[in-house]
Amino acid sequence: MDFAYDDQNIFAKILRGEIPNRTVLETEHTLAFEDIGPQAPVHVLVIPKGPYTSLDHFCQEAGEAEITDFWRAVGEVCRMSGVEDGFRAIANARRDGVQEVPHFHLHILGGKSLGRMLPAG
Ligand code: AMP
Repeated sequence: MDFAYDDQNIFAKILRGEIPNRTVLETEHTLAFEDIGPQAPVHVLVIPKGPYTSLDHFCQEAGEAEITDFWRAVGEVCRMSGVEDGFRAIANARRDGVQEVPHFHLHILGGKSLGRMLPAG
C-alpha cells in the first residue's frame, strides 16, 4: 500500500498554523477541531499531528505514544462534547471511502439521532 503523504492538504496547513481552525482540544500528538461543514450538532474532527494519510496508515506506522495519545484525545473529545446519548465515529479512507482530505481524521458526530449507518443498498 502506498501511503504517500501530500503536505499541501488542508489539515497539514491547519497543523502548520497557515489557516485557522476552531480548536476543541490539543495534546502532544493530536489536534481536535470543529468541522467547517457540520453534519450534526456535534461534529468534531480528531487528527494526529503526524503525516498519516488514513486510518490504516496511522494504525500500521504510528508509534505507541501517538496511538495512545490519539485515542485518549478521542475519549476526551467525547467527554467534552456532551454526547452521553451516543455518537458516531467515522473514518473515511481513499476512493471507496470517499475521503476528501488525505490526512487521517476521525469524525465524531452526535447531538441528535443519527439514523442507520448506511443507506440501504
Ligand atoms: P472526509 O470526506 O472524511 O475527508 O471529510 C473531510 C471533512 O473536512 C469534511 O467534513 C469537511 O467539512 C471538513 N473540512 C474541510 N476543510 C475544513 C477546514 N478548513 N476546517 C474544518 N473542517 C474542514
